[in-house]
Amino acid sequence: MSAGEGRRRRVLLKLSGDCFSRSGQGGLDAEAISSIASELAQAARQGVEPAVVVGGGNIIRGSDLARRIGAINPTTADYMGMLATVVNALALQDAVEREGVETRVLTAIRMEEVAEPYIRRRATRHLEKGRVVILAAGIGSPCVTTDTAAALRAVELGASVLLKATRVDGVYSDDPERNPHAVRYEHVTYEQVLQQRLSVMDATAISMAREHGLPILVFSFRRPGNILRALTGERIGTLVSETEPETLSQTS
Ligand code: UDP
Repeated sequence: MSAGEGRRRRVLLKLSGDCFSRSGQGGLDAEAISSIASELAQAARQGVEPAVVVGGGNIIRGSDLARRIGAINPTTADYMGMLATVVNALALQDAVEREGVETRVLTAIRMEEVAEPYIRRRATRHLEKGRVVILAAGIGSPCVTTDTAAALRAVELGASVLLKATRVDGVYSDDPERNPHAVRYEHVTYEQVLQQRLSVMDATAISMAREHGLPILVFSFRRPGNILRALTGERIGTLVSETEPETLSQTS
């Protein structure tokens, strides 16, 4: 579907915590947040149904915190990381609503004074009503990342694609920030990602996507307009799937 054709396209957008901060810095950056919000709102107005899983690495990444502060148990650190994702979700919610588009934050850890609990049918209903659904607190359990939450929610909510916004513009043979000879792929299979340990998402997320035939589009959030392009079905970045489909623009 091209934008504006009137048919709905349900997608799962995974925004890592990095998306919410200025390059190389942690915390929240006003400009970064409002630019994501504006692109999300534009896509929603064009009939895209975006469910957004937010990360928390700009505030707390469980494994880093537990390594740095020995007194904090790794599991506790993971719960702290999940709470960090709620902070990002609330920031994104207000920024998208400022753009005039309705949103709901749904959390996998109950905190009803702050947001609704995640219930699949409720999330689906919000999407059908044209609301941007922001999913926080990962899956609500430790020892996984929000990448796994993104794959799980994409499958549950019937998203046609998982859009993974990252710092680099796709999947490379090596880390392009360190190796200038790294080659960017247009398309890779799940198998290649797992076998060659390509840096895309964690292995649990890739395995889940493969099992359910969920394509993943890896693209850079740094280029202005890319979030909107990905949401509306433009073929940017690198596609991870079993075989290269003709287009990513199937509707759900
Ligand atoms: N986390 C967790 N369970 C989940 C999702 C996240 O324990 O289902 C914790 C984990 O410690 C993780 C942190 O929350 O490091 C923040 O999420 P993530 O690292 O995925 O954020 P991102 O890298 O996308 O910014």
